[in-house]
Amino acid sequence: MAHDGILRAPVARNARQRGPREDTLDSAPPAWAHWALRWRSVTTVEPSSLRRRFSIILIAGRWSAEKHPEAIEPHLWTRDIAAEYVADTLNAVHGQWAGCNRDTRKTGQPLSAKGKVQRVDDLRAFFLDLIDWEWITPRFDPRKVLTGPLSVRAQLGPNPRIIDDASWAKLMAAGLTVEATDLKLYGSAAARAASSEHRTYYPIEMVRALIGVWLFAGLRIDEIRRLELECTRRDEGRDDKTGAPFPICLLQVPANKTSRAFSKPVDPLVGELIDAWRAVRPSQPDLIDRKTRQRQQFLFCVRGELIGSSYLNAHLIPVLCRKAGIPEHDSRGALTSHRARATIATQLLNAPEPLSLADLKEWLGHKHFSSTRHYATILQRRLTAAYRKADYFARNVRTIQVLIDRDTIMTGAAAEGQPWKYYDLGDGYCTYDFFAKCPHRLACARCPFYLPKGSSAGQLLSVKDGIDRMLENLVLTEDERAALHGDRDILTQLANRLAAVPTPAGPTPKALGTTKDAFIALSELRRSLDQSGD
Ligand code: SF4
Repeated sequence: MAHDGILRAPVARNARQRGPREDTLDSAPPAWAHWALRWRSVTTVEPSSLRRRFSIILIAGRWSAEKHPEAIEPHLWTRDIAAEYVADTLNAVHGQWAGCNRDTRKTGQPLSAKGKVQRVDDLRAFFLDLIDWEWITPRFDPRKVLTGPLSVRAQLGPNPRIIDDASWAKLMAAGLTVEATDLKLYGSAAARAASSEHRTYYPIEMVRALIGVWLFAGLRIDEIRRLELECTRRDEGRDDKTGAPFPICLLQVPANKTSRAFSKPVDPLVGELIDAWRAVRPSQPDLIDRKTRQRQQFLFCVRGELIGSSYLNAHLIPVLCRKAGIPEHDSRGALTSHRARATIATQLLNAPEPLSLADLKEWLGHKHFSSTRHYATILQRRLTAAYRKADYFARNVRTIQVLIDRDTIMTGAAAEGQPWKYYDLGDGYCTYDFFAKCPHRLACARCPFYLPKGSSAGQLLSVKDGIDRMLENLVLTEDERAALHGDRDILTQLANRLAAVPTPAGPTPKALGTTKDAFIALSELRRSLDQSGD
């Protein structure tokens, strides 16, 4: 078209780096880089894992050149060298032995637990490959030596970084109303020059379909990009209870890293958005699916290329965040395509009529339950509701009213041993400063610290100026909790057991002659506590 003058210049593909950069390779010792490239040429690991593992292999080469220049080839590594590599990795920081790292935002910061484990695990996989392929004769067992300590592995927890409800609702609203004018320029200079007047390198119908799939289908980004052109199937179901018909849209998910191709139900809106895109989609050549090696038509294919792998994360999600008026990062990190999958999965599990774990496993296309359980996070609000229901605080903590005699403190009489703090027990006060530690606190033995309200000192206190009233928390023991809930047997047991236990003043209730009848009635105490703010 450029040749015929229809376009000003040929439409260029977006520039893309293929293979390792030269400066990255140059920063590793040549002998080690040779092994790394040889490994790279035959390994069958997934492209994303390949890139990470290859860079980690080069990191190990640079480390080796610095620490053991006598062993800069894998077959020269010994058990001690491998163990030293693991130890150094546990203390490594970002950017260390990383060659020419273009992303320097974290340079100098300690590696995360995941980063440490990956550096060790990927190098172990490299050594195991070399041994399996009989390229080297092992001088140590990588399975035993190249392994991260359990303490670090224990820090690797499931991390379904869900998006909070409010932000998710705003993203949905923004996604379902997106217009061409909301989009930003995208692609190389030549590609931008060829964009439509609405600045959409990708047609808006395709962008809407892409957003619909992202918002409702819970797919991995690789699955989204590899959706076949005819990936939807319509059907009709009937409600079990009412018999009313409802539309069904089944989405055919391509084979992924753990499962074969399968279909899953999605909101019919997804089917409508895909249909709208298919209606205007220019014909595209067949492309080879990188997973199945089959030639096929892809849904998200324009100008003979699949949609850019970073388009959703780096371009579209920021656009939606701006339109929705929410930040591109939250407390759990950047909003990414995968967080939609985590959010949808968690919401399906926490719905009023939730999917079972087995159903969710099928829906997500997981091979193992262990993967699905990562998403089985209980939403905070549901946890909070359950916690409230459990009534932990009210069941275990009570408050008691305390009278503080400011005058006694100010005049210094408190320092000379005068009572200044009075715990209200109902018909009397406990003047022991550490009332909470008294074993008889719920069945006061009326030791010398006890002050009856009816006594002259007790009556004086009730009319005295300068008395502050406060509440103090009491954490209840199991026996006390049962006694406060009116279990008379436990009350009697408690009383019997305390009969020989000394009071803070010294004598036991037995020695004081405090009979069971003389105990403060727990009902009074309970009323006192309840009135105090329970
Ligand atoms: S036994 Fe003595 S210290 Fe314990 S609550 Fe009764 S008055 Fe206070």
